[in-house]
Amino acid sequence: MNYESFFSGQLDGLRREGRYRVFAELERCQGRFPTALRHTDEGVHEVTVWCSNDYLGMGQHPDVIAAMHEALDRCGAGAGGTRNISGTNHAHVQLERELAALHAKEAALLFTSGYVSNWAALSTLASRIPGCVVLSDALNHASMIEGIRHSGADRMIFAHNDPADLDRKLRTLEPGRPKLVAFESVYSMDGDIAPIAEICDVAEAHGAMTYLDEVHAVGLYGPQGGGIAEREGLGHRLTVIEGTLGKAFGVMGGYIAGSHAMCDFVRSFASGFIFSTAIPPAVAAGALAAIRHLRASSAERERQRDRVARVRRRLDEAGIPHIENPSHIVPVIVGDAKRCKRMSDLLLDQHGIYVQPINYPTVPRGTERLRITPSPLHSDEDIEHLIHALRDVWASVSLERAA
Ligand SMILES: *Cc1c(COP(=O)(O)O)cnc(C)c1O
Repeated sequence: MNYESFFSGQLDGLRREGRYRVFAELERCQGRFPTALRHTDEGVHEVTVWCSNDYLGMGQHPDVIAAMHEALDRCGAGAGGTRNISGTNHAHVQLERELAALHAKEAALLFTSGYVSNWAALSTLASRIPGCVVLSDALNHASMIEGIRHSGADRMIFAHNDPADLDRKLRTLEPGRPKLVAFESVYSMDGDIAPIAEICDVAEAHGAMTYLDEVHAVGLYGPQGGGIAEREGLGHRLTVIEGTLGKAFGVMGGYIAGSHAMCDFVRSFASGFIFSTAIPPAVAAGALAAIRHLRASSAERERQRDRVARVRRRLDEAGIPHIENPSHIVPVIVGDAKRCKRMSDLLLDQHGIYVQPINYPTVPRGTERLRITPSPLHSDEDIEHLIHALRDVWASVSLERAA
């Protein structure tokens, strides 16, 4: 086989469909978020980032920066090993305590990312509990799907956010069989929110455990940023709450929170936890500072809500269609991969606005979109600039299409 031509042939296929991914090369500017520098062959230009998952700008918060500097100077660069072999630093233990408190759970367990936490926790729980069946929401994130698949456990997909369908699926199973219901709170592409109470009602009626990915909600919802479960007073009904330190908390890493026994079980059996170097102490210290700040302060959450409402209102006034939802995510549907990429390119090249096109397989074909995430740090001028630019590129792409 000619391996090289196989690789390029596959890539050509992606290009033909308009979904070959090109990374924007950015340099984030501490203290100036959402401004970043964009590096191209033609030079370096300022852009405004409108698709960051650093939802609250905590990546540049003074408390976070100071905590990271301090820990770096005190502890050095890396963790020094896996958690078992010399890698468990004081900062990890403190962070796990803080995470448990954030979710009002007995314990928490850190991983190197949210992806790894889903993959490792779901694959360990589903494979180690004899006869376990996983009930998985149809729109679950790739990291959950991969973890469930890797477990080798039986899996049933229930219709997205549909407790009645979940109930129908659970009824077909032997009552005594172990079951795990895996779902998310805020779904990041449409910005819709799961009916957590109803899903817990159904799961409890069938004696099933519940596993909730709150990656797009931690830091953002609830009086202390504990997520949608905290906001709705439902944390105690979930067996596992999973989150990331890489989005609203502005740093990186992932975790699960739950009972002592469950966290200890995953700690003791999950290959993806045991055999991987712990996150650097400075990263743990930065995440700890971000969580502490957001537990005490709602100012960032309130300002973000205000910015989201303003972007939606201005999009409506400009006649630009977007999906209404109860979250902080503003999806502008374009509905065609090439057109979506073209709009994103024009926004970046002509207007200095960076919004990544979201194409298949991240979203279904025909629903390609620009996913806008307003932060507390986007000003009124930033918003006007965005609306003006979107109007302009919307018109020129429609013209190109007609021609
Ligand atoms: C981003 C994401 C993850 C993975 O978290 P990382 O910390 O980025 O690895 C998990 N679940 C969902 C729903 C996500 O969007």
